[in-house]
Amino acid sequence: MSLIRLSKSSVGDEEKEAISKIIDAGYLGMGEEVRLFEQDIKSYLGTGHEVICVNTGTAALHLSLQAIGIGFGDEVIVPSLTYVASFQSISATGATPVPCDVDLKTGFIDLIDAEKRVNVNTKAIMPVHYASNSMQMEGVYEFAKKHKLRVVEDAAHGFGCKRNGVMIGCEGDVICFSFDGIKNITSGEGGAIVTGDQAVANKIRDARLLGVEKDTEQRYRGSRSWKFNVKHQGWRYHMSNLMAAIGREQLKKLDKFAINRKKNVEKYQKELSGIAGLRLLDIDYSEIVPHIFPLRILQGKRDGLMEGLRKNNIESGIHYFPNHLLDLYQSNYDLPNVELLYEELLSLPLHSELTPEEQNRVISIIKDYLL
Ligand SMILES: *Cc1c(COP(=O)(O)O)cnc(C)c1O
Repeated sequence: MSLIRLSKSSVGDEEKEAISKIIDAGYLGMGEEVRLFEQDIKSYLGTGHEVICVNTGTAALHLSLQAIGIGFGDEVIVPSLTYVASFQSISATGATPVPCDVDLKTGFIDLIDAEKRVNVNTKAIMPVHYASNSMQMEGVYEFAKKHKLRVVEDAAHGFGCKRNGVMIGCEGDVICFSFDGIKNITSGEGGAIVTGDQAVANKIRDARLLGVEKDTEQRYRGSRSWKFNVKHQGWRYHMSNLMAAIGREQLKKLDKFAINRKKNVEKYQKELSGIAGLRLLDIDYSEIVPHIFPLRILQGKRDGLMEGLRKNNIESGIHYFPNHLLDLYQSNYDLPNVELLYEELLSLPLHSELTPEEQNRVISIIKDYLL
């Protein structure tokens, strides 16, 4: 029985060839290829907003928070049900991540709970596009307006998705994507920030290159800054030509990836809906390129089912361990929905190369175990 992977990169000859070209050209660092990837992303999204590529999604979040002025003494509200990257990016600025509950049906940030977390130090909110869903985002912007907060969207799961017909990234304050190995597209590792705020974009451009002012322009011309000024803390967070070359090929394949990911989810939904003992999330997948497929396994059966899948050489996952239960981010209050979901959530295999036959194997084990 072959191994069924929970997630995987889908890369091939096109990416190999693209990397070869960069190696032959002899300039691996940040240069023209990164500029072209940023342009390609802009065209793909159809946005006039600024696009800045960096070396991880975490770096994208960190730089965005820094650029909107988040630092020591500030608080940022963030759902506890997310990858620890969201939390780390906040604490990296010196600010405090304030964990918040989520909606039991979707895993999206619960704004009623968020309301309890606001105080004079609250400066921003970081909604997460959990399982690529962001249908409730309008509420976050109303909340932000009411409390005068900036919004940094963790859209690591959201690249290529739409909301009400609009591509994610085209609307909103500061939107961050991840291109790590298993996301909807990959650049090996990588990430991008999209924002309509020119000043924030310029700060991010400098900060990704150790704060060297306007170094981006030099590097895009194949040059370097030999006389320069630095006014702000920066980081070594830029993207390399090698990564961008992979990313550009992946972007060309995204529409194809999207078709298979959508088909996978439709099949899971069709075959698993109505089974007592599990509950699908209440997510409308029609405009989504689904990154993960989490569902709830009820009656304390999640761990047993996970083990049953493993015995049949099928990987599954739990997205995510609650951040407010980690030593570093411990809260002195409970977040009941996040804690319940942590006991129930199970993510099924989902990637662009998953076949219907493989899905049948997954589905039959779930049915055998629960029915
Ligand atoms: C992947 C991911 C990140 C971080 O992206 P990296 O590119 O791995 O640094 C942040 N938030 C969420 C929800 C993610 O899934």
